[in-house]
Amino acid sequence: MNIKNLFKTQILPKMVSDSRVWLSVFLAVNLINLPNLACCFTPCFTWLGLKLWIFSMGLTMLACVFGLRIRLMLWLAVPLVLLVPACLASLFSIQNLPTTFLILALLETNKTELSALQVQVVFAGIGTLIIGMLYVWFVKTRVPASLRLGSVGKGLVALSLLSPFCYDLVAHGHVVGLAGIQQRLLTTFPSATFYGAYEAFDIRSRVQNRKDLTENLVVNQEQAFRDETNRQVHMLVIGESATKSCFGLYGYERLTTPMLEHTPGVLTFRDVSCTAPCTLIAVPSLLTAAPPGKLVEATRQASILTAYKKAGFRVYWLSAQKKHGTYDTLTSIFSADADEDHFISGKFDIDGKGAYQGELDANLMPWVRRILKRNEPKVLFVLHTIGSHGPYSMRYPPQLARFPADPQKAHEALFRITMGAAGSPEEVELVQKTYDNSICATDFLLANLINDLKQIKASSWLYYVSDHGENTATARFGKFMHGMITRQVVEIPMLMWLSPAYEQAHADKAAALKANLNTPFSASCTFHTLLDMGGLSCPDFKKEWSTASPHFSPGPRLVCDANGNIIDYDKKFPPLQAASKGIPPEENARNIATGASRP
Ligand SMILES: [Zn+2]
Repeated sequence: MNIKNLFKTQILPKMVSDSRVWLSVFLAVNLINLPNLACCFTPCFTWLGLKLWIFSMGLTMLACVFGLRIRLMLWLAVPLVLLVPACLASLFSIQNLPTTFLILALLETNKTELSALQVQVVFAGIGTLIIGMLYVWFVKTRVPASLRLGSVGKGLVALSLLSPFCYDLVAHGHVVGLAGIQQRLLTTFPSATFYGAYEAFDIRSRVQNRKDLTENLVVNQEQAFRDETNRQVHMLVIGESATKSCFGLYGYERLTTPMLEHTPGVLTFRDVSCTAPCTLIAVPSLLTAAPPGKLVEATRQASILTAYKKAGFRVYWLSAQKKHGTYDTLTSIFSADADEDHFISGKFDIDGKGAYQGELDANLMPWVRRILKRNEPKVLFVLHTIGSHGPYSMRYPPQLARFPADPQKAHEALFRITMGAAGSPEEVELVQKTYDNSICATDFLLANLINDLKQIKASSWLYYVSDHGENTATARFGKFMHGMITRQVVEIPMLMWLSPAYEQAHADKAAALKANLNTPFSASCTFHTLLDMGGLSCPDFKKEWSTASPHFSPGPRLVCDANGNIIDYDKKFPPLQAASKGIPPEENARNIATGASRP
C-alpha cells in the first residue's frame, strides 16, 4: 500500500472520527458551561465574559489532565447539567447567574411570589428534562469510554486556565494572584451557584439566631430617661452614596442643601469618615458595635434596633432600597430586628427591572406620618434611603431638579463613564448635575422629617449619616463610583437635629454633641452615640465612643476597603488644612485601593 492509499483508507478516516469525538467532547463540556457561555452575551458581548467562559472550560477538564477518563468526568458532571436550565432562567430574567439573594428569595418564597416566577419555573423544569436527556444520550453514544486527554488536550486545558492571567499581564502589567482566582470562581458557574447557596443558608441561620440574641440581651436605661414623661420619637436616617463634598452645608459652591441651611438647630459634624466604601460592609458597622469589616461578628451582635426594642421602644425599619427576600442582604438581617419593616420599593426583581430602580426616598414620608399618627409613646425609626446611588437621575422628582439636566442623556452618559469611557466635559457636567439634584432630594427629605418631628412636640432627635460617599466629576479615576478609598468616598455628611424638649431634658448630651462638631471621628461611633442618646447601655456599648458624651474619645478612624483590608484613614490621608470645605480635585487622585463598584 502506497502512502496515498494509506492516507485515504486509514489516516484520514481516523482523523475525521477523532475530530468528531473531540468535537463531541467540546460540545458536552460547553453544555455544562452553557451559563458561562450565555453570560458572554448577556446583556451584550463582553471580553470579561469570554475570559470567564474559557477559564471555566479549562476548569471543567482539569481532572482529566491528571488522567481521569473523559467520559467518567462527563458522567460526574450530570448534576451540574441539571442546574443549567435554572441558571439560564435566572440569567435571562435578572441578567445574572443565581445569586445568594435569588436563592434566599426562593428559600422563603410563598405561593403568591412563586406564581410570579411561574414562567421561569416552567422553563427551568422542561429545560432540565430536555437538556438532561440530550446530555446523557450524547455522552453515551458520542464519547468513547476509554478516551483520555492527550498531550495536545492537556496543553489546551492548561492554556485556557492560564489565559486570564496572561491577559492581565499583557493588559495591566501584573497578575492578580489568589484574589483573581477567587473572583473568577465567584463569578462563574457552577462555583458561584454553590457559594451563593452556602451563603444563603448561612444568612438564614444567622437571622434565626438573632432571635435568641434579642431574648438574652441585657439593656439598662439611665434614670433621667426612665423618668421622662415626654413622648420619645427618634429617627436614624441612613444615607446612600452621599459625599460631604457635594453638600452645600459643607461649603460646596452649589446650593444643594437650601432647606437644611434654613432649618434652625441642625448640627453639622465637619469631619466624619465612613467605615467602608460599599453598603454591604458599611451598614452593619453603623448598626452594631462590630469594627469595620467584621461582618460575621456584626451578625452576632446586638443592633441599635435590638437595644431600643428591648428598652420598650416600638422600632420601625422603612426602606427605599429593595428587599430581595426576608433574609436578603446583611442589611436586612438587621431590618428583621425591627417590630415592623416596610420595603417600599418592593422585593426581589423578578421582573428584571434592576436592583436600583424603585421608589423615591420622599415616598418614605407618608409612612413616617402614618406611623406618627399612631401616637405610640416610644418610637425609633430607621430609614434606609436610596439617597444618591446611581443612576442619579432616578433619585429625584422633576420638581426637585435644581440643576437642569436631561435625565435620559445623563443616564446614558453615566453608564458610558462608569463602563470606562472618559466622557466629554459636557457629559461629566450633565451627570454631576443629576448627582447634585439627588443631594437636593436628600435635603428635601431630611428637612421634611425634621419638620414632622417638630410638629409632634416630642423629646426627639434625628441622626443622618451616609453609608459612604461617591467619587464625582472632580475625581481623576473612578468618576461617579464608590467601592474604592478616596476622600470623596470616605468623607461623609453627618447631621443631627434635637427637639427643644430633648435639649431641655438632656442638656449634657446636647452640649457634648455641640462640642464635638469639629472632632474627627468614624461613623462606627454611630451605635454608641445612638444608644447614649436614648440613655441606653448594653454589654457592647462604649460610652467613650459616643459623640454625645463629654468624654468622647474615638479610636483611630478605620476603613475596611472592598478587598477586606483595614486602613487607618488619617495615616493614609493626612488631614487637609480646611477639612470642612469642599475637596480640591487633586485630592481625589490619591486612590489607594481598587474594587470600584458601578452605580
Ligand atoms: Zn451604599
